Amino acid sequence: MIASAERQLLFLQQLQRLFDEGEFVATYKFALLMALAEISVESNHVDGKLEIPMIAIAEKFAELYWPQTVPYSSGTATEILNQNQGKQTAVVNALLRLRQEGATTISEAKKYSSWPTTLRTIGKTVAEMPVKYLQNFGGTQIPFLYEYPNPSGKIVLNEGVALMLRTFHSFIQQMARAGWITHIRKNKRNSQILGQVDALESFMFGTPRACLTQVSELLRKIQSNKCFYCGTALSNQADVDHFVPWSKYPRDLAHNFVLAHASCNRHKSDMLAAERHLDNWLDRNLRYNAELIFELTNFNSDLKCSNRVAYWAYEQGINIGSHSWVDKQLTEPLSRNCLGLILSP
Ligand SMILES: [Zn+2]
Repeated sequence: MIASAERQLLFLQQLQRLFDEGEFVATYKFALLMALAEISVESNHVDGKLEIPMIAIAEKFAELYWPQTVPYSSGTATEILNQNQGKQTAVVNALLRLRQEGATTISEAKKYSSWPTTLRTIGKTVAEMPVKYLQNFGGTQIPFLYEYPNPSGKIVLNEGVALMLRTFHSFIQQMARAGWITHIRKNKRNSQILGQVDALESFMFGTPRACLTQVSELLRKIQSNKCFYCGTALSNQADVDHFVPWSKYPRDLAHNFVLAHASCNRHKSDMLAAERHLDNWLDRNLRYNAELIFELTNFNSDLKCSNRVAYWAYEQGINIGSHSWVDKQLTEPLSRNCLGLILSP
């Protein structure tokens, strides 16, 4: 599915207006845009309207804000970044309570008995704040993304909006990240914390890499110590590769990891893997679904979600005429068969 050219242009203009003219008192609006774009990528039905439960948005908020709930230090003060011009945001405070209870990672936090309450608290804030203000331009609501007032407990994306959010996912993520970072920097209350050195982006949005050791060990077993792509033996050094490239979808999904030679990984770079690799990957995920879910508890391990993300990535690649990576320097045009492969049971 592709939206008409006019429709896409109008959507981009409205989005641009949102970034240019929208008022950002807190960072919530950036998080809401990022959440809606991600959920659209991870959803099944995107042709028409898309209903999103507030609790699903709250969960995305928790994931987005979690890394930012530890003290940041590069200036003279070591403190938690202020996400608001006034007092700290309710979302950060709700997550801080989980940290105080002892959770150190978001996947741990999700296992705490207070997690559902936390999500409800965050959901309530999301409904009262960014959902109300995101589409507000100078006091006027322009509901180009979702109906407003929204039905209780959910957001309904307008006809075709989910499709548009999928199409422009990476663009929206980059715009929202850049806006969010600028917001944090411009907040005077953060100047003591930030200092001069700037590692802000990787602090706010980076993913800890340490946890990939466990992934690497499991994949080595599953792949019988062979490279996922070329099938020849791996040495002690091997790279955990994101099958759907990180540059397209910067989130860790258990089923999206494969183990490969550093050289194969480097050649593949930011490209989608060719049809033959896709076939192997789908087959691997079906065959080792239980192991991936059981062993990689720190990651989202919903096979269907991972397949929907792959479908989205391949569909986008096909629509814009991308090539896919075969091996070494060899690429081939992406074929439509890939979509059929992903959909076949
Ligand atoms: Zn290889």
